[in-house]
Amino acid sequence: MFIDTHCHLEDENFAADRAEAIARAETAGVERIINFGSTMQSSIAVAELAKKFSGLYAGVGIHPEEIDDFDENTCARLADLAAHEKVVAIGEIGLDYHWEKDSARRLVQQRIFVEQLDLARQMHLPVCVHDRDAHGDTLKILQTEARDLRGVLHCYSGSLETAREVWKLGWLIGVDGPLTFKNSAKVPEVVKAAPRDMILIETDAPYLAPVPYRGKRNEPAYVVEVAKKLAEVRGETLEEVAAYTAANAMRLYDIFQKCTDAASG
Ligand SMILES: [Zn+2]
Repeated sequence: MFIDTHCHLEDENFAADRAEAIARAETAGVERIINFGSTMQSSIAVAELAKKFSGLYAGVGIHPEEIDDFDENTCARLADLAAHEKVVAIGEIGLDYHWEKDSARRLVQQRIFVEQLDLARQMHLPVCVHDRDAHGDTLKILQTEARDLRGVLHCYSGSLETAREVWKLGWLIGVDGPLTFKNSAKVPEVVKAAPRDMILIETDAPYLAPVPYRGKRNEPAYVVEVAKKLAEVRGETLEEVAAYTAANAMRLYDIFQKCTDAASG
């Protein structure tokens, strides 16, 4: 079994064929999918999707590029959503300095990131972090504000040195399409050195489709291509990669527990 631990099936790109994309994922062996919100509206949407489809779970949060969507009521509204048993994470939250060059607004990103880490702590939920071109500040915030939390740096794009600090905190890294790209020198180096229990696979669909679908719309079924590349880079079988990445995802997001709870009523 594969688990796509990060995607955006609520995105309008899936408006015409969302159920078909979920069915294609199942056929490919991708039995569980975790969708992440980036605004209040998309957080509501991913929580609704998780209620509707048995293999779907959700994370709720405000993305660093969407900080204008955050106000004094946001955390309470996210907490309401996160109370549902199929909402298994707070995310995606974090820092994005690639698109934000203004230093005052970067500080606002940091404050909103920390407030949502506090929410994760209150809700006893793991965290999915977006870090783009903000590796130093992200690591600093994890080290000072999140020592007691569990989580993943999704779509990991930092150095091996930073990854080692992340692993020291007990946090995982998420690997997706860029691992399969020819120009991704850093990512293979990082995944080769990663302890088995520190890696998740993901698509970030509809973005970042892996080779051989690069440039097309991404979808959860393609997480198998990420797993294949991971197996190749690490010298493992596809079955091994499927087994340990699924186990890591179930452990981090407590999915196994929630399935059992649901089955027992
Ligand atoms: Zn994402």
